[in-house]
Amino acid sequence: MDHSKNDQRLGKRIAVVGAGAAGLSAAHALKTKGYINITIFERAHRVGGKCCTVEIDGRDYELGAGIVAEDNSVVLKLAKEFDVPLTRLPFGRSVNVNGETGKALAKRTERETITLMCEVLKYRALTWKFRATGKPGLMNTDAALTIPFSEFAKTHHIEHLAREFALFFTGFGYDYFERIPAAYVLKYYRWSTLLAFMQRKVYRLPNGIQHLWTAVAAAHIVRLNTTISRIERSATSVSVTTERGTEEFDTLIIASALDEALRYLDATEDEQSLFSKIQYVDYVTIACTINGILDGDGYVPSNFTPRRAGHPVFWHHRHADAKVYTFYALADTGQTDADLTDHMTDLVKKMGGTVSTVHSITHWKYFPHVSSEAMKGGLFDRIESIQGSKHTYYIGESLNFSTVGLASEHANDLVNRLF
Ligand SMILES: Cc1cc2nc3c(=O)[nH]c(=O)nc-3n(C[C@H](O)[C@H](O)[C@H](O)COP(=O)(O)OP(=O)(O)OC[C@H]3O[C@@H](n4cnc5c(N)ncnc54)[C@H](O)[C@@H]3O)c2cc1C
Repeated sequence: MDHSKNDQRLGKRIAVVGAGAAGLSAAHALKTKGYINITIFERAHRVGGKCCTVEIDGRDYELGAGIVAEDNSVVLKLAKEFDVPLTRLPFGRSVNVNGETGKALAKRTERETITLMCEVLKYRALTWKFRATGKPGLMNTDAALTIPFSEFAKTHHIEHLAREFALFFTGFGYDYFERIPAAYVLKYYRWSTLLAFMQRKVYRLPNGIQHLWTAVAAAHIVRLNTTISRIERSATSVSVTTERGTEEFDTLIIASALDEALRYLDATEDEQSLFSKIQYVDYVTIACTINGILDGDGYVPSNFTPRRAGHPVFWHHRHADAKVYTFYALADTGQTDADLTDHMTDLVKKMGGTVSTVHSITHWKYFPHVSSEAMKGGLFDRIESIQGSKHTYYIGESLNFSTVGLASEHANDLVNRLF
């Protein structure tokens, strides 16, 4: 083996933009492979991105991601390696309510459960047929999966299951089935994840999920509070300019929003046209103290429609002995924070409670995804074909799916395939 060539490769100066789950997973995978010269640029004052844990009244709460599933192997491995504890999520504490009345919906009948189980079996066959969705990335997406999931569910007679899927999908901010390509839903509900949900092998991090990324980041060079004003790529190197000056690198990994990178990147025509097609959901987290409502989590399926945008779709009660809840809504343009608070307060009132304090309202530029048309046009294959061009690689939730597990898995896979 030519050791000097290997040393040269492992000594490459690598710049990673973004210290969220994807950027830190990539940095960790590179380090594990023996790369020694990695610098992560993060514009915020903390790492973790959408993994965001805050303290309210002395307890920790998640404003962003909260749970990981048993099959999120990259994240679970990191938690083990960095000695970050996980606990099983308590199940059976959730209720579905009607958004108009605040009343709990009737539980499933035995007959409905049997129908659902039959549809799970049909879905099992579909996940096998479209098993490529279980692999990292959205390349080679079958054209049959580019139609909206509502249509796909109708075609395959799994509409009861789709209603059940909506709880963890639209309830968790991933837009409405009428406008989301089926590929995203099959990716999120890949068979191993669905099994983990059914077997209740779902975890939360008792010290907060941000804590995991803080622990991973401690093993790396991370430049917090750093704004990139320009990145220029030449035939031999990458120049990154921040408020601290310009630094030279050999390789660039963009692990932050790709459309936003167009603001500072000397983007090619391909990069411009591909990244500008990414769209988002305005998913909002409202943390508040409430008196008088049920202990546990809740879903509001009647609000899973664009007509009810701004109304809560889900709420979470993290600590049974505290009165702080987080409410979640898919907002629409034109809705103010006052509108969102009114809708949340109104629902709480209908459920017999009162909101005593609103601690924070956080808008997330959430679930980067593309339309059916862009997916059908092969957008992800085109992004894959330019991976590595101009010394640049692209990772992050937009290239797989917006969960911690899937963003990390994609980043880990890219490093293992291409470095
Ligand atoms: C309310 C909410 C609930 C969620 N619930 C769950 C859940 O329960 N389970 C789950 O698995 N997932 C959940 N998610 C999704 C999950 O958090 C994300 O999909 C995942 O964390 C995305 O990781 P990422 O690294 O791709 O992107 P991000 O987390 O967005 O990280 C990108 C990083 O890049 C930084 N950055 C951006 N621009 C620049 C720049 N110009 N220069 C330097 N740095 C920059 C950002 O500050 C950020 O730190 C939730 C998200 C939200 C918001």
